[in-house]
Amino acid sequence: MPSPSVIRGSTRADRVTVATALAAALLAVGAGAASAQQQPDTLMFDVDVVTNPPAHLSVEARLTSSAAGLITLAAPPSALPAGTDVEGLSATDDRGRPLAVRRLETRYEIDAPAGAVRFRYRLDVRNPVALSSTGAGLDGARLYAVGRSVFVAPDPAAYRSAGRPYPLLWVHLATPPGWQTVTSWGVDEEVFTPASGESLLGATLAAAPDFRIYHDTAGSTSFVLAIRGERHFSDSALRRVIAASLRAAAEALGPVPVPRVTFTSDVGSKGRTSGSLQGPASIGLIWEPGELLERPRIHDLFHETLHLWFGGEMAASRWWTEGVTDYFAARLEAEWRGRPDDLADLCYQSLSNYLRIGHNTGMTMDEEQRAGVLGDNTSLLVYRKGMLAGLLLDAAIRRSTDGRASLDDVARRLLAVAGANPAHRVSEAEIRAVAAEVGGAAVDRTWRRVVEGTSLITAAEVADALRTVTGLDVAPPDVIAKEQKVLIGHPKP
Ligand SMILES: [Zn+2]
Repeated sequence: MPSPSVIRGSTRADRVTVATALAAALLAVGAGAASAQQQPDTLMFDVDVVTNPPAHLSVEARLTSSAAGLITLAAPPSALPAGTDVEGLSATDDRGRPLAVRRLETRYEIDAPAGAVRFRYRLDVRNPVALSSTGAGLDGARLYAVGRSVFVAPDPAAYRSAGRPYPLLWVHLATPPGWQTVTSWGVDEEVFTPASGESLLGATLAAAPDFRIYHDTAGSTSFVLAIRGERHFSDSALRRVIAASLRAAAEALGPVPVPRVTFTSDVGSKGRTSGSLQGPASIGLIWEPGELLERPRIHDLFHETLHLWFGGEMAASRWWTEGVTDYFAARLEAEWRGRPDDLADLCYQSLSNYLRIGHNTGMTMDEEQRAGVLGDNTSLLVYRKGMLAGLLLDAAIRRSTDGRASLDDVARRLLAVAGANPAHRVSEAEIRAVAAEVGGAAVDRTWRRVVEGTSLITAAEVADALRTVTGLDVAPPDVIAKEQKVLIGHPKP
């Protein structure tokens, strides 16, 4: 690997030198490691953050391949929230001879000779401030983006299905003087080496002169927290919540599945607070200005951290990845704060939303997912019923094992199954089998009713489950009991 220190401090004028140094280092790696074999393909990006109005990114790339043939590059999604546009993509061979580029709907195709292909483009970012954690924002003061909306690059899934290793990656990021760079591949370096195509496209990429950067460890992993902007809560409050979420999740589910996690927290616009896991190891957080770090936000943070396991380490149906994640987030947050009523409140809130979903007894969660029903996380069964499913399964397991086992045991076994499966995918049948194995026949009954069936979940059974999980009696708020009567009286859709 080329040492970043060799090229640290380079300026735009040195770019040719940077590229040449990288290429030489790369050849040395190839010659040393694989002289008898084919040299690995390589892909280097040179990204310039240009802040002169209109601010944009200027990107140059060099892709080497041992064989001539068609090169297919995936185009970034331009629709919101990504909001980025690729302008004027052109390609040449290594000697500067132009190559034909065909733009198809979601990709570019280049007929390439063996050796190196260079391509360049300008990336415009429509919003000065990212609208969400999966969006992009760029102006003279900051950049926030997600890898897949910045890089025109080969599709990692295509390489995987062809059984070919993804090209070795280098990303050189040139920012205006004084800016700090935060990515999930590292912080404040000049050259980054994403470990894979997924890590290139699934990454938060941010830079600004005023990031406050903290390095810490929790749950036996290290994390970087980069914060911009002012809110009503302090940096240390955010740092404490993140550390607590990593620690609690690691205790329940096993070690954090990645050696380092990057949390990038930026200020967005009014009414827009969101968080998401990008790729396996980076969590983007966009807060609305003046945001208070209150219980719902803390719960969201736990939810995003849990995606390192459910979503990152294990791929499953959405009711598990979103709903059960939400249940774990609520339970772990409540345990951390020593406030079991927090779990009750969030579960009753979920129930209240679930009762308002028109198709709550007309579809299973899986049918809803397959039908592609749209909506936010208050109006979809996979979130709201999924969370209740987590609670009801957890309670059923605890009851049938006299408290010797819980949903945590199911989750840990499923994570082990995921680790051995292609693409870390766990099927419904596998989840059901593991749940029954841990909790027995009683759990299978809950599964049939809640996961496989569509009978209405009642406030009484939620109260019952909460009693089992927390040991406390937390009666449903009056409003839910009333709502439920009204709804049950309605004809089923
Ligand atoms: Zn989520």
